[in-house]
Amino acid sequence: MLRQPILLLARSQGVKKLVSTMPVSSGIVTSYVPGESTADAVGATAELVDDGLRTTLDYLGEDTADAAQADATVAAYKELLAELAARGLAPKAEVSVKLSAIGQFLPDNGHKVALENARDICRAARNAGTTVTLDMEDHTTTDSTLAILRELRKDFPETGAVLQAMLHRTEADCRALAHEGSRVRLCKGAYMEPEEVAFQDRVDVDRSYVRCLKVLLGGQGYPMIATHDPRMIQIASSLASRFGRQPGTYEFQMLYGIRPEEQKRLAAAGETMRVYIPYGTEWYGYLMRRLAEKPQNLAFFARSLVSKK
Ligand SMILES: Cc1cc2nc3c(=O)[nH]c(=O)nc-3n(C[C@H](O)[C@H](O)[C@H](O)COP(=O)(O)OP(=O)(O)OC[C@H]3O[C@@H](n4cnc5c(N)ncnc54)[C@H](O)[C@@H]3O)c2cc1C
Repeated sequence: MLRQPILLLARSQGVKKLVSTMPVSSGIVTSYVPGESTADAVGATAELVDDGLRTTLDYLGEDTADAAQADATVAAYKELLAELAARGLAPKAEVSVKLSAIGQFLPDNGHKVALENARDICRAARNAGTTVTLDMEDHTTTDSTLAILRELRKDFPETGAVLQAMLHRTEADCRALAHEGSRVRLCKGAYMEPEEVAFQDRVDVDRSYVRCLKVLLGGQGYPMIATHDPRMIQIASSLASRFGRQPGTYEFQMLYGIRPEEQKRLAAAGETMRVYIPYGTEWYGYLMRRLAEKPQNLAFFARSLVSKK
């Protein structure tokens, strides 16, 4: 499997420097990221909403090492939320936030800084008329992220969480979070994880995904089924019927640029379909995770790198 080598290579500073010189307009980047500015993100949302879809927007950035950068990320989210509200898009567009982009890894008080920054974004989202979902990063952050979620939900119970089927712990986490009012996005997991904590075989990850779907769709919360996998989508639909769930009591989610026709098909069939839109200048880590999932795109990627346009 090419996934792990690509994720390992992505950690090299040399590779990062080379890839980051590509303009955002180069084909491979724009196929996953609509642009760098708030206007690009809001424009992409308006188009998708016109097609009957919803969105969740991620201001790209992760592993922030300084507080000023974390503050700049919070400011970017506030600007975005104000613009979504001004354009009347907030009921159809929420935001996704990576805690490492708003201070979780800062030395000494990272957990506290991330909590306060997340609270600030939740407040701005509520004022705009929408919600926040906390993205999940690698397994070393899971406990801290779920603890921050618990704190945030005291004041903002609408805040969503993400759980990753590849982790051994996730079925139990699903049980803990399958209660009324709880918004949980279930994904397979995009990070390179050791075998002590995560399933390594795709089949085992898929089996775990199905077990977690059963817990979430059979529970009282609002499941957000984040996958492009046709088999998982089909199984989720059957389980939703089996548990007597109506469309609107759960939703499907996919990433911007991936299976756009399927996104529209599900929306046209009456399902709630939300597209995750990443935007901003820090697209490197996001792009490398998407390439690792779709190694067939590597040739396309190599050509973009050589032609740099
Ligand atoms: C809305 C959303 C939010 C997410 N949030 C998080 C998060 O917070 N934390 C986290 O760890 N992960 C997150 N992910 C990523 C997720 O964990 C997976 O890495 C990613 O979705 C690929 O898994 P898959 O379920 O689509 O199945 P896969 O088994 O990877 O793919 C199934 C099929 O989907 C298609 N496909 C998949 N990837 C691509 C691609 N890059 N280009 C073209 N086609 C493709 C192919 O047809 C493939 O056969 C999120 C995913 C989505 C959709």
